[in-house]
Amino acid sequence: YHAKQQGNRYLFFNDTMNRQAVKRLQIENLMRFGLKEDHFCVFYQPKMNTETGELVGMEALVRFITPNKGLISPAQFIPIAEETGQIIEIGEVVLDKACADVKRWLNQGLFSGRVAVNLSAKQFALPDLTARIDAILQKHALPSYFLELEITEGTVMDDPKEAIAIMKSLSARGIHLAIDDFGTGYSSLAYLKQFPLNTLKVDKAFVDDMATERGRNMVDSIVTIAHNLDLSVVAEGVEYAEQVDILSELNCETIQGYYYSKPLSAEHFEEFLAKQQGRQTNKLTLVKS
Ligand code: C2E
Ligand code: MG
Ligand code: MG
Ligand code: MG
Repeated sequence: YHAKQQGNRYLFFNDTMNRQAVKRLQIENLMRFGLKEDHFCVFYQPKMNTETGELVGMEALVRFITPNKGLISPAQFIPIAEETGQIIEIGEVVLDKACADVKRWLNQGLFSGRVAVNLSAKQFALPDLTARIDAILQKHALPSYFLELEITEGTVMDDPKEAIAIMKSLSARGIHLAIDDFGTGYSSLAYLKQFPLNTLKVDKAFVDDMATERGRNMVDSIVTIAHNLDLSVVAEGVEYAEQVDILSELNCETIQGYYYSKPLSAEHFEEFLAKQQGRQTNKLTLVKS
């Protein structure tokens, strides 16, 4: 233990606490610098239709690439950014870049679906959230139709009444809303049907559990709940062909995961889009001839 005199108080740290605090501060500083120097970028992961194998949309995922420490994973920096409030600025950078990329792909005729952007609880609680989103969409002349927001259960269940009002104002603009990591937080079914939602995203933990019968039943139930509420379902973190087979049997229409593709840089995702378009054009020519 180290004892540090501060006035007449002694602060005690053990080494682990000390190291964690230092690391946290280090990441906080890296993020502050990174926001100034544009070290945050956006990767995209395709969401595919299980029946047709066609691209239905993609999720924008933030990547933090520092000059000295390389890539820092979201699992490391997002929780700290949530605590410090830096997630608000980071989230806006992601939305801004995602809108710019989608607008470009739209203009190039490469894509005309929705991009899903993760929205943190801190952003969701901003009194001027809708105005901020409108401003970014307007900046890129991107209609709100092309945007989907992924929100976790915790974010909307904190104050469900207030959440309904916020979600309604987003939904009224044509923005789609998805519950992310569904089943890992606490959702009330009573509220679930009141939220103006479009999609439930089944968390990877449930997908991994499908090796057992109980696990499959669980995913079956989630898919059924979603469809009974007129929502679409996306399974997250799908890695194996066996999982794809089970999910399509369970009528889960959309799949996201390494099985199809890891999250890709904008440059690589653009190549993915071009290839995907080639496949669709081939199919059309086959039908015509
Ligand atoms: P999420 O929104 O649930 O995103 C899915 C995560 O699962 C991503 O991790 C993705 O790379 C990973 N993933 C996708 N398919 C597979 C797979 O087949 N196998 C495995 N093992 N993993 C897969 P990532 O990019 O590290 O992001 C982690 C979390 O960080 C996200 O979970 C989200 O909660 C948060 N996050 C990422 N980007 C943003 C952002 O721009 N804003 C906010 N607020 N949070 C973000
Ligand atoms: Mg997400
Ligand atoms: Mg998720
Ligand atoms: Mg997650």
